[in-house]
Amino acid sequence: MAQRYVRVQSQSGQLHYGLLQPDRSIHVLDAPPWMQGQAIDLELPPDSYKLLAPCAPSKIIAVGKNYAKHAAEMGGDVPQEPLLFMKPSTAVTATEEPIFYPPQSNRVDYEGELAIVIGDRCVDCTEEEARDKIWGYTIANDVTARDLQARDRQWLRAKGFDSFCPLGPWIVREISPEAKIQTFLNDKPEPVQSAHISDMVFKPEMLVSYISQVMTLLPGDVLLTGTPEGVGPLQMGDRIRVEIEGIGSLENEVQVRVLPNAALITES
Ligand code: MG
Repeated sequence: MAQRYVRVQSQSGQLHYGLLQPDRSIHVLDAPPWMQGQAIDLELPPDSYKLLAPCAPSKIIAVGKNYAKHAAEMGGDVPQEPLLFMKPSTAVTATEEPIFYPPQSNRVDYEGELAIVIGDRCVDCTEEEARDKIWGYTIANDVTARDLQARDRQWLRAKGFDSFCPLGPWIVREISPEAKIQTFLNDKPEPVQSAHISDMVFKPEMLVSYISQVMTLLPGDVLLTGTPEGVGPLQMGDRIRVEIEGIGSLENEVQVRVLPNAALITES
C-alpha cells in the first residue's frame, strides 16, 4: 500500500501532519512532509483523531473543461489553453464533513477531480521542472452552483462557497496515469462519473508550468485538474463519493448550513 500522508486534529485540538498506518494509527510528523517534516516520537491511536483536509493551501487553482467529454456536455470544446479559475482556501473541507447547500442557489453540482499538491515554491517552471514541484495527489470535489456560474459569468461565487472544496482523505506521492476516477451518488452501484486520469487533456506537469507563469505556487497549494463527464445536481441529504484508484475515496453529505447565532458574534 502506498504511503498515506494525512493532516489530523487530535482530541486535545492540536493539528498534526502524519503518516496513516494500516491499523489506522498515525505516526506524527513535526512539519508538513513537503517541508521536510520528520517523524517524532508521538503516535495517535485509531479513533483518537479527526481527519482534516490533507493540506491547508494558500490558494486553490482549478482548470475548467479539461476532459473532452465534459467540455462537450457543457456545450463546448476543450479550450485552446487551460481555462483557470480560483477557489478560496476557505472552501476547503475534509472527508465526511458536510457540503452546505447555499440559499442563493437552486442547482448545486458535484465535480469529482484529481487534485495535485505542490511541494515546492514554483515560479515560471518548465514542464520538466514542474514534475519535481508536484509533491503528491489527492481527491477533490469541485462543488459548483451551476445556476450562479451561468448568471455571474465570473465563476468566483459559484465555485467559492464555504465547503465547496472537499479535499482528501490523504495524499499519495504517485498515481498511475491509467488510474480510474469515479463518482458515486448515494447508494447507486453505478458511478455517475467514470473516466481515466489519462483522459485529461492538459496534463499535471503542463498545468503546473502554465500556472507558474502566471502566479507563484507555494508549498501546500492545490491544483484541481478538471472533471470528467457526468456532472449532475445534488439534493439536500445526498451523499457524494469520489474515488480514485490508488488514492481512496472522498465522501461528503449535502446539508443545510446553520449559521452562527448573530448575538453570539456580537458578544465575542
Ligand atoms: Mg471542475
